[in-house]
Amino acid sequence: MRTVHTNPLFPLQSATPRRLTSFLILHSQCSLAFTFSFPQFNAPNSDTFKHTEFLSLPLMRFSLTLSKTPFLAPIMASGSVSGSASLVWFRKGLRIHDNPALEYASKGSKSVYPVFVIDPHYMEPDPNAFSPGSTLAGLNRIRFLLESLVDLDLSLKKLGSRLLILKGEPSEVVIRCLKEWDIKKLCFEYDTEPYYQALDKKVKDYASTAGVEVFSPVSHTLFNPVDIIQKNGGRPAMSYQSFLKLAGQPSWASSPLSMSISSLPPIADVGSCEITEVPTVEELGYRDYEQDELMPFRGGESEALKRLRESISNKEWVANFEKPKGDPSAYAKPATTVLSPYLKFGCLSSRYFYQCLINVYKDVKKHTSPPVSLVGQLLWRDFFYTVAFGTPNFDRMKGNRICKQIPWNNDDELLAAWREARTGYPWIDAIMVQLRKWGWMHHLARHCVACFLTRGDLFVHWEKGRDVFERLLIDSDWAINNGNWMWLSCSSFFYQYNRIYSPVSFGKKYDPNGNYIRHFLPVLKDMPKQYIYEPWTAPLSVQTQAKCIIGRDYPKPWLVISLWSPSMVSHDSASKECKRKLGEAYALNQKLNGQVSEDDLKNLRRKLEENKEQESGSRRQKQKL
Ligand SMILES: Cc1cc2nc3c(=O)[nH]c(=O)nc-3n(C[C@H](O)[C@H](O)[C@H](O)COP(=O)(O)OP(=O)(O)OC[C@H]3O[C@@H](n4cnc5c(N)ncnc54)[C@H](O)[C@@H]3O)c2cc1C
Repeated sequence: MRTVHTNPLFPLQSATPRRLTSFLILHSQCSLAFTFSFPQFNAPNSDTFKHTEFLSLPLMRFSLTLSKTPFLAPIMASGSVSGSASLVWFRKGLRIHDNPALEYASKGSKSVYPVFVIDPHYMEPDPNAFSPGSTLAGLNRIRFLLESLVDLDLSLKKLGSRLLILKGEPSEVVIRCLKEWDIKKLCFEYDTEPYYQALDKKVKDYASTAGVEVFSPVSHTLFNPVDIIQKNGGRPAMSYQSFLKLAGQPSWASSPLSMSISSLPPIADVGSCEITEVPTVEELGYRDYEQDELMPFRGGESEALKRLRESISNKEWVANFEKPKGDPSAYAKPATTVLSPYLKFGCLSSRYFYQCLINVYKDVKKHTSPPVSLVGQLLWRDFFYTVAFGTPNFDRMKGNRICKQIPWNNDDELLAAWREARTGYPWIDAIMVQLRKWGWMHHLARHCVACFLTRGDLFVHWEKGRDVFERLLIDSDWAINNGNWMWLSCSSFFYQYNRIYSPVSFGKKYDPNGNYIRHFLPVLKDMPKQYIYEPWTAPLSVQTQAKCIIGRDYPKPWLVISLWSPSMVSHDSASKECKRKLGEAYALNQKLNGQVSEDDLKNLRRKLEENKEQESGSRRQKQKL
């Protein structure tokens, strides 16, 4: 029964060769053949690891078939493997607290091997990449991961163990370890991301033939996405409110989570497997690169718990948290928790975070509620995980049933200017510098640059912007990133394309003096306040005094000019044009009931170009007259 190892909803969805051949951890998700409910896990009785039914109807059938397979046998008979060797495969879930996979591995095992596999393709330098880092991850995220691994290694050492670092294609390495160390129990966190689905399938296929028990609990999200999809008749809920209704209270909400482990069984002989310490970035090959500003966030569970404690110690702040009211320009003390990179790597359990917030709410008179509260933010996370898991081709426009088909352009010049902070709009460019230097920006800052690139000004394909975020964000998360890019480009979830962020007035509202711009774009640090958001309007004498000549030291907002026509210089004109295009695209999607082909899009593109030419022609005519 080979299907046992694939995403039971959509076998190998989106598992492109690029994803398959590459990275491990920093990008997320997989699927799982078996789930175990958390209350059972926490219950101290012998039923702890009962195999739970699987989700949607097709899955139920799937589950029943499963129980006759040899693969299931070792799982059902988990007690019989005690006294043998277990392997914990860390990917995300880089923590000790609330880690069911680690806890299960340690129960009744003679030895436990904690393993992390470094995939060179994911981690080693790519000299052709547009910024320091590998092909798939910027250096900031690689560094954050290494710090998280060092921290995990230290914690494991305190428990009498250590983290075994191996290198290579992860499934091959893990299979080799299973053989070499005579592993009887393989434990790793359930992951819904397509990359992991493909990877885990290979490993589980081997485990089933070799009689290795596989334990793969859901512990990355608050809910099991499959449960929610099943409750909704096999499809994910497309609105946050319906998601909330389906999800209800998490079943584990009021049970204590397992926050620590007293000790771990020792590591036995590692045979001929090549084990190393956690490498440094230099050992990975990152030499001779310069970083003028260090990313201020350190990876690891210890740091995550410290940051969480700091956030929740201010009960008033937690109780009154209301997004989107925070200040996106606050960089010295960000307006939100900055726990996203820790949640991404699982240095922090989202369930523990949730329980801490609920405890704060109990201590205060009143508090905000979803969608704007902090608990509401965690639920947004689960919302996107659920839609992503239940939507084939979630990470692309084509073949994605929830994504509007829009004739975006693929202008690499515009993309590069946006990516390299050369749009000429200081608010946009400063955010893009923060992305490159820190790998993190406030949610509304992300809104602004994503809107600018896509439906607001440049009309570049959202997948291109997604790729840039995916590589540079330290919290880069497959489900959340794709979901938010579709949202911001009005491709899905949100359709009010007439509401556009102004690259000038939006930031000014929060930060009239432009301190954020001055920090991330020091070339503009002496520009007077009244010109900081539109420096091209400053008289030459002012530019000279500010030591920043626009067009020489900092670009004019020429992109918009070159994109539309020489007469179009403003954000207003560009955004008007974008709205017109989106209006036409929406009408086409509606007319064809979403079944828009490649040719339909080509025709629409041609029609839009023709309209544009006609308009410019008649404008020129008027000007002559
Ligand atoms: C275009 C775009 C791309 C994004 N890409 C990512 C990404 O790759 N990874 C990522 O974690 N977030 C992403 N976000 C969502 C959001 O911006 C970040 O989660 C948030 O800014 C992280 O900061 P924080 O931890 O301080 O958030 P807080 O406001 O403190 O929220 C707590 C947690 O809730 C979750 N959360 C908050 N907002 C959202 C949201 N809109 N959607 C889903 N979960 C949310 C995060 O896990 C976050 O850590 C993206 C947003 C946009 C507009």
